Amino acid sequence: MSIDSQARLDELEAKILQADPTPELRLQANSLVMGEGDPNANIVFIGEAPGKKEDLEGRPFVGASGRIVNTMLGEAEMDRGDVYITNIVKYRPPNNRDPLPSEKAAFLPLLIEQLNIIDPKVVITLGRISMEYFIPGERISTVHGQPRQVMFGDHEITVVPLFHPAAGLRNGKIRQIMTEDFQKTLQYVKDLTTSED
Ligand code: URA
Repeated sequence: MSIDSQARLDELEAKILQADPTPELRLQANSLVMGEGDPNANIVFIGEAPGKKEDLEGRPFVGASGRIVNTMLGEAEMDRGDVYITNIVKYRPPNNRDPLPSEKAAFLPLLIEQLNIIDPKVVITLGRISMEYFIPGERISTVHGQPRQVMFGDHEITVVPLFHPAAGLRNGKIRQIMTEDFQKTLQYVKDLTTSED
């Protein structure tokens, strides 16, 4: 683990606190939920925004949806420390409403910086809202599990959309598809890493 990347993420967190991109959200939230995991991870998971439990604990995906993420990682003999997990919007929207376009826009430059620091091989979006942020105009039911090259900031990044874990909680079929999509993504990352050797 590079201390350097973690130090840069810590600096970014301080910058977010200082820049205060969404004062209305910050006033109603308990925590800035920056993200956690390996600051040099090959895979970054991105959800939409923290929920109630995440806001209370200051950590992403620690509620029911997080259990699905943990299980999916466990099935691949990985854990949360092997990836980085974050959200587009870093404060909980009141009553878990969807983040507003203005809130997502306010966090855009900060998310670009966060991804530039971690520099992952693949960004896995969790759910439709996160997918639309990177790949607008697609249906998650059609494109889930498929890697896409997209421009984000001034970098081309690879994005793989997955269903939201909450959908996996409600529907066993979706849960199974998430596992298969994640396994395929791991193979994709492995192939990329081998072809770079
Ligand atoms: N849903 C999200 O999109 N993010 C979280 O951190 C938790 C639930």
